[in-house]
Amino acid sequence: MIRFEQVSKAYSGGAQALQNVSFHLGKGEMAFLTGHSGAGKSTLLRLITLQERPSAGKVSINGHDISRLRSAQIPLVRRDIGIIFQDHRLLMDKTVFENVALPLIVVGFTAGEIRKRVQTALGWVGLSDKAHCYPIQLSGGEQQRVGIARAVVNKPPLLLADEPTGNLDPKLSMDILRLFEDLNSLGISVLVATHDLGLIARMRHHTFTLKQGRMLGDSLAGDDL
Ligand code: ADP
Ligand code: ADP
Repeated sequence: MIRFEQVSKAYSGGAQALQNVSFHLGKGEMAFLTGHSGAGKSTLLRLITLQERPSAGKVSINGHDISRLRSAQIPLVRRDIGIIFQDHRLLMDKTVFENVALPLIVVGFTAGEIRKRVQTALGWVGLSDKAHCYPIQLSGGEQQRVGIARAVVNKPPLLLADEPTGNLDPKLSMDILRLFEDLNSLGISVLVATHDLGLIARMRHHTFTLKQGRMLGDSLAGDDL
């Protein structure tokens, strides 16, 4: 699903964010990406979403080399990737339903199709009865789940999460990770960037570790972090 081959990224300011990074996330797999602040996690995710381009090396998504894509093709690749942010980035003046429907409106589905898909996605995250609430009426964990529903409403083959539990307590964080596992069992490949090693240790998934821009190799959670 994701393949990095000898990928390096140097920012114009001079920072060498990634150096010769190679790794592979198979189709249907779920894995963690970890490392200290500044290790390069966000940069790695931004190379997948094409917000940044590699300085060297090759990035492939779903078998396609995206390192040399023309700009016109970028939206097509992005459509295949659901993204979850730490701060969920919901529109506060829109209902839960409207927030989740946004990616479908962009693609141009009919109203009936949108209603069906939004209800399915809200069902996955356990918020079927909150469709007409505004984000402010929901708890922090529920707001994060709305963000997750929005990310998966298109049924993307790949889901990326950047510190998705950063603002949540340990119990809610665990609930969110279980939810990712549920989505993974629907066939969605999942990559979760987090520095919460305690959380990772409680789950059995491959963990890719970055240290100062280099990949330390992968391990099963809890083995040698
Ligand atoms: P992490 O997500 O693990 O905290 P980042 O990928 O954000 O790491 O950062 C890796 C390194 O690249 C850091 O030294 C950071 O300061 C630098 N960096 C990140 N984004 C930029 C940018 N847009 N311009 C210049 N340097 C950057
Ligand atoms: P995240 O929460 O994803 O880790 P960051 O704080 O790393 O976000 O980065 C937020 C924004 O600031 C990004 O657009 C990133 O490119 C930019 N940025 C991060 N580090 C630097 C840096 N050292 N110099 C310039 N821009 C940076």
